[in-house]
This record gives sequence, structure tokens and C-alpha cells, in this order.
Amino acid sequence: MFTLPTLPKILLIVAVIGVIWWWHRRNQIKARERAELDRNPRAGKAKGGAKGAAGKPIEDMTQCKVCGAYVPAKGATRCGRADCPF
Ligand SMILES: [Zn+2]
Repeated sequence: MFTLPTLPKILLIVAVIGVIWWWHRRNQIKARERAELDRNPRAGKAKGGAKGAAGKPIEDMTQCKVCGAYVPAKGATRCGRADCPF
């Protein structure tokens, strides 16, 4: 009535259990990430912000000789401030 399972059957059972375990863990990780995002929405925004900052090149800044305001060095002939006489 009850016989020992053959090796292929054991391997199949182990594989099925492994897939279920992997799927369960993946769902757990996703649920935890979602919960953390709900608890701390800024963490998700910071991730997006870092991505946005990475996409934007960093510009060299130069100081206006007249008023001392920092302006982008590239193509800047004057600082553009209304109160700057330059
Ligand atoms: Zn200036």
C-alpha cells in the first residue's frame, strides 16, 4: 500500500517545494518593501531623486567678480542678478 518514492519522484517533490519556497520569499520581500515605502515615503522619493540627480550633469560654478554670487561657469559672462552692476 505504501512504497518508498523513487529518486525522480523525490527530486520532483524537492523541486516543487523549492519553487514554492522561492515564490513565497519573493512575495515576502516585495511586501516588506511596500510596507517600508508606506511607513517612510521619503525613502522611495530619495531613490527617485538620486536617479534624477545622476541623470543631470554636475556643473562647475564660478563666483561673480563683482557681487560674489555663484553662477554656472559654462557660458556665463555675467551673473544675471538684477542688483549686480557687472
Ligand atoms: Zn554679479
